Amino acid sequence: MRLLLATKSQPVAAIRAAIVAGGGLIGENRVQELAAKGPELTDLPHEAHLIGPLQSNKVNAALRWVTCVETIDSLRIAERLSARRVGLAPALDVMVQVNTSEEPTKSGIAPAAAAELAAQVAALPGLRLRGFMTVGPNTHDADRLRRAYASLRGIRDQVVASAGPGTADAVELSMGMSGDLEDAIAEGATIVRLGTAVFGARAG
Ligand SMILES: *Cc1c(COP(=O)(O)O)cnc(C)c1O
Repeated sequence: MRLLLATKSQPVAAIRAAIVAGGGLIGENRVQELAAKGPELTDLPHEAHLIGPLQSNKVNAALRWVTCVETIDSLRIAERLSARRVGLAPALDVMVQVNTSEEPTKSGIAPAAAAELAAQVAALPGLRLRGFMTVGPNTHDADRLRRAYASLRGIRDQVVASAGPGTADAVELSMGMSGDLEDAIAEGATIVRLGTAVFGARAG
């Protein structure tokens, strides 16, 4: 299991210190923030994941600064990334974001449609499907949290077992944040995304 440091609103100095301390995997919610901080981090080896929604007009900037887009929730945005990346090695790592809580305010594809989207994304050239991401329900109810995370694991297992083109590497489960990491880990998280637990409370 790996820790992703959620660095939104953190200054570059704090991010640099965290990377040097061994946090080689960071995540930002906005492409603009990645592009702004990226030039000041190039001397420190690290991976940078996009963990917020990708707008189609930000695809080029994302391709420049991101090593993995965790938030694919439509075939349309995956096709845009694929069209820009195809022919340029290496393939871009992507994950399908699933709205496991089915809260209407949350991003992600509905669980019932997730396996089909994943199969389509996995088959696109220029992309490598690495797994699945979710933001858990807004609750401290451990049963609800565990059900949401178990459902993401079930989707992952179904897609990998399908053995469809490009699905063999779709093993990652990016789930769990500072408030519920124990539940996510118990359900098989391979990446937990921590902000406040590492950096303290965010200003604003
Ligand atoms: C901010 C954020 C996190 C980290 O949240 P904390 O509660 O601060 O740990 C994880 N995932 C996403 C998508 C986020 O936006």
